[in-house]
Amino acid sequence: MRSTITPSLLAGLMGLLISTSTVAETQPFSIAIHGGAGTISKANLTEAQQQAYRDKLKEAVDAGYKVLEKGGDSLTAVTTAINILEDSPLFNAGKGAVYTYDGTHEMDASIMDGRNLNAGAVAGVKHIKNPINLARAVMDKSPHVMLSGQGAEEFALSQDFSLVPVTYFDTESRYQQLIDAKAKLKAAESKEAGKPDYQASVNYLDLDYKFGTVGAVALDKQGNLAAGTSTGGMTVKRFGRIGDSPVIGAGTYAENQVCAVSATGHGEYFIRYHVAGDICAKVKYQQKSILQAADEVINQRLITAGGTGGVIAIDQRGNIATPFNTEGMYRATRKGGEPAKVMIWQDN
Ligand code: ASP
Repeated sequence: MRSTITPSLLAGLMGLLISTSTVAETQPFSIAIHGGAGTISKANLTEAQQQAYRDKLKEAVDAGYKVLEKGGDSLTAVTTAINILEDSPLFNAGKGAVYTYDGTHEMDASIMDGRNLNAGAVAGVKHIKNPINLARAVMDKSPHVMLSGQGAEEFALSQDFSLVPVTYFDTESRYQQLIDAKAKLKAAESKEAGKPDYQASVNYLDLDYKFGTVGAVALDKQGNLAAGTSTGGMTVKRFGRIGDSPVIGAGTYAENQVCAVSATGHGEYFIRYHVAGDICAKVKYQQKSILQAADEVINQRLITAGGTGGVIAIDQRGNIATPFNTEGMYRATRKGGEPAKVMIWQDN
C-alpha cells in the first residue's frame, strides 16, 4: 500500500510534536501541602517528633508531585497527598482526628476543581477512613456539594465505600488532648459561672484548641488548579460543630486562571472572613500576586479580627504562598523540576 504521508505532512507532524512537547515542558506545575498551623513550639517538639512530621510531609508532597510529573491531574495529586496525611496518626484528619466533647470523632473535608468550579464536601462523618475521597465522590457522583452526618455515610455505602469502626480513629495522644482540654474547659466554665455552658466552651475554644488539619493545592501540566482540605475539626467540639474545612470559599477554593487555597486555623474566623475566597478575589479583581493576596488576608485582616491560622495558596503560574500568623505551620512545597521544601516554622 502506498504511503499517503507526504514530506510536507511529515514536516507538519514533526512541528506539532515539537511544539506539544515544548508546551508540556514549559507548562509549570507545582504542589503545596499543609498539616495544620498553631502553637507548634520548638521546645515542645523533640528532634525525633520533628523528623517524623518532616518525613511524612515529604512523603505526601513527593507522592502528589509524582502524579503531576507524570502528567496526572491536579485533583488526583491533591487526594493522593491528602490520603497519606489522613492515614498518619500525626495529623488531625482521618486516623489522627481529634476527639469531640463526647469522646467520638467527627470529620469534615472538601475538594474543588478549578476547571469548572465543581466542588464536593462532607461534614460530621464518623466512619470514613479518608473523608477527602468521599468529598470527591460527592463532587463526581452526586448532584450536591455538601452532605453531612448519617446521610453522607449512606451515600458512601451507595458508592461502595466501606465504613470503618469508630475505634479506628482512637489514638492515645489525641485522647490525652481531650482529657487536658476538658480540664481547661471545666476551669473556664467555673470562671464564666452564670453563662450558658456552651458560651464558656466557645470562649475556651478561642483561647486554646488543637490544630493539625491537612490540605493540598496543585497546578497540573494542563494548567488546571485544584484544592482540598480534610480535618477532625477542633478538640472538644460539641453540638455538631462544623468548621471552615468543608465550606467552599472558607477553607477550600480553586478557580483556574486565579488561584487555589486550602486553609487551616480557627474555623469560625475562616468562615466569617471567607478566607480562601477572599484571597482568590484579590488575585482576580485586584490583580494582586498570590503572595500579596494571601499575606494581606492572613497577616492583616485575620490578625485584626483575632483569627489564627494560615493557608497554602498557588496561582496559575505555579507560584506558591504559605503565610500563617501562628507560631508554626506544617507544610511542604514542590515546584516542577525542583526538590521538595519541608518547613514547620517561619525560618525552617
Ligand atoms: N480549621 C479547622 C476547623 O476549624 C481546624 C484546623 O485547621 O486546625 O475545624
